[in-house]
Amino acid sequence: MMLTSKTPIQKIAGIGPKIAQKLEKLGILTISDLLHHYPYRFEDFSKISKIGQIKPGTHCVKGKILEIKSNRTFRKKMFITQAIIQDATGSIKVVWFHQPYLTKMFKRGSQVLIAGRVDYGYAGLAFQNPTIEKYTKGGLHSGRIVPIYPETAGLNSRWLRRIIASLLKLTDKIPDYLPKQIKKEYDLQDLPQALKQVHFPDSFEKLEIAKNRIAFDELYLLQLKMLRLRQKWQKMTASKIQIDLEAVKKLVKKLPFKLTNSQRKAAWEILQDLSRKYPMNRLLEGDVGSGKTVVAAIAMLAVAKSGLQSMMMAPTEILAQQHFHTLKKVLAPFRLKIALLTSSKAEAAGIKNAARPKIIEKIKNGQIPIVVGTHALIVEKMSFEKLGLAIIDEQHRFGVEQRTKLHQKAKGCPHLLSMSATPIPRSLTLALYGDLDLSIIDEMPKGRLKIATYLVPAEKRRKAYEFIAKQIRAGRQIFVICPLIEESDRLGVKSVETEYCKLKTQIFPKFKIGQLHGKMKPKEKEKIMANFLKNKYNILVSTSVVEVGVDVPNASVMMIEGAERFGLAQLHQFRGRVGRAEHKSYCFIFCESPTTKIWQRLSALTRINDGFKLAEKDLKLRGPGEIDGIRQHGLVDLKMAKLTDLKMVKLTREAAEKTLKIGLENLPLLENKIKEYNKNKNRD
Ligand code: ADP
Ligand code: MG
Repeated sequence: MMLTSKTPIQKIAGIGPKIAQKLEKLGILTISDLLHHYPYRFEDFSKISKIGQIKPGTHCVKGKILEIKSNRTFRKKMFITQAIIQDATGSIKVVWFHQPYLTKMFKRGSQVLIAGRVDYGYAGLAFQNPTIEKYTKGGLHSGRIVPIYPETAGLNSRWLRRIIASLLKLTDKIPDYLPKQIKKEYDLQDLPQALKQVHFPDSFEKLEIAKNRIAFDELYLLQLKMLRLRQKWQKMTASKIQIDLEAVKKLVKKLPFKLTNSQRKAAWEILQDLSRKYPMNRLLEGDVGSGKTVVAAIAMLAVAKSGLQSMMMAPTEILAQQHFHTLKKVLAPFRLKIALLTSSKAEAAGIKNAARPKIIEKIKNGQIPIVVGTHALIVEKMSFEKLGLAIIDEQHRFGVEQRTKLHQKAKGCPHLLSMSATPIPRSLTLALYGDLDLSIIDEMPKGRLKIATYLVPAEKRRKAYEFIAKQIRAGRQIFVICPLIEESDRLGVKSVETEYCKLKTQIFPKFKIGQLHGKMKPKEKEKIMANFLKNKYNILVSTSVVEVGVDVPNASVMMIEGAERFGLAQLHQFRGRVGRAEHKSYCFIFCESPTTKIWQRLSALTRINDGFKLAEKDLKLRGPGEIDGIRQHGLVDLKMAKLTDLKMVKLTREAAEKTLKIGLENLPLLENKIKEYNKNKNRD
């Protein structure tokens, strides 16, 4: 049968169901997957050493087997195989352990390649457990730059090398989907060539050229996808909002504070988007407490003034309520009808006797210009007569599916604003959010009290507890965050319960303590959070899921256990839960295994108070996979390219832009490839 790159691996001679299963664990289902299973490093066995001149170190030699035999050791526990290999310059011993079959495969007189470490062992200077293969035309496991693959039990590099080498000739049949112009302009290698070189490079220079091509492709496809999403979005029509600047000015003037410059800039960018004829698709990113809500309020006011509706969606009921109250306050001078709608509450400002059905009816008729609610409720249950703007708070991404639902809510396409407190390092935004416009609030309102942050060593734990007790007696409240201790305890039930019991029975028996973990139903969680907000608990012990964005103005201490398990940016987010009001606030950081390295990493929190800077640090120290927001993004499965390679990201972005100018309809191979790509990575 004809093998193509899409052929399932079971069809390859030598791959049965068992091996196929193992390959599947590596994510390999087709020949193409196998060809894209890249080595993670190489051993340079390209230079053949002269046996007569060998010193300890890593070597590859070519020679004849003078002698080969296996023995059991005197305790009969171990097979030792010994051989002597000779070339024109001399001879050397070779020793293998546990490989008795070697004497069956290799006989005296055969020409072989040997590669591995040479060292002084019990037999004197000898190769220790090297690879060996017959020398015919050239070697696969030696006598070249040898690929080492990520392995799974039972499939070693040697096996993978053999099977991949046998498939490489198929690469000639893989269509090179990169447009000729792009390939030429960016000086990229042909795909078949690159695939061959990336597995079995002729030299390290050629390896780099090949890696460059493959990395380019990965980011290029990603950028094409983003740009196309963006284009699609821009081809839709939305209501052009006539901005009532007088009203906006009035709102700003009546605020009890002065907007920061970042807030002004963000609001301006949003208002400009709203006045275009295609829908806004913007992400408003700003640290916890940077004041995103008021920026959203400005946008909602502008939309209301133009006679359209807007809605704001929050991830939890409590947050929805907080937004409702904020909006009521900020928008009070305008006498706008504002509704709150969650599964347990329906409330409206500006309407008399507003019962739930009546509110829903009025939203449907377009009589309530501003609606606040929970994500799920609004997306599932509501319809709007004239929705102009949808705002999504604290959700990393809003998927295509949800967007589609959103479009069904509105006649035409509403403008979309997402708000997030998760700082993504700036160097990554183009790679991750290439389809969105971005506004960043990167300054905090003036006069915020800095949260005093301490790394607490074990011997000071008692003191920290005493301090906490004092705070509670002064009327304040305390958050305690626990990490997930075991993989099996994904919901954090165990760690929270353990900590809860400890605090309740041993440390603070007199205080009221609540707990919050992932096994609880959303309703239950909401209730506990609401009770905490009402000061019914002095202390709340929680997993890291502690409701984002909820304002508990009375909380003054954030205590974090096992902090080494979190990224800096995430720790910073926890810290942002306190210090939301006039009370001086504190963050106590504990860790279980305080090595110097961990201590150093965490100490950044005591110095740095900027979520973006901390995210950059995380990126440097822990890599992109560990950054909050990237994991959710489901985007880290780049194999060769690095999201952090800003130069490559920019280059591929530019190439993708040029490509779309050529037009995908003129590039059928690429169009096909993109379809395939989207099928595999239906991120959104
Ligand atoms: P987040 O960006 O985390 O959603 P919020 O919008 O909840 O932040 O704002 C946090 C607090 O800061 C609110 O109490 C808000 O009234 C206040 N605030 C917002 N902007 C300013 C400002 N420019 N100056 C002072 N306080 C502000
Ligand atoms: Mg917020």
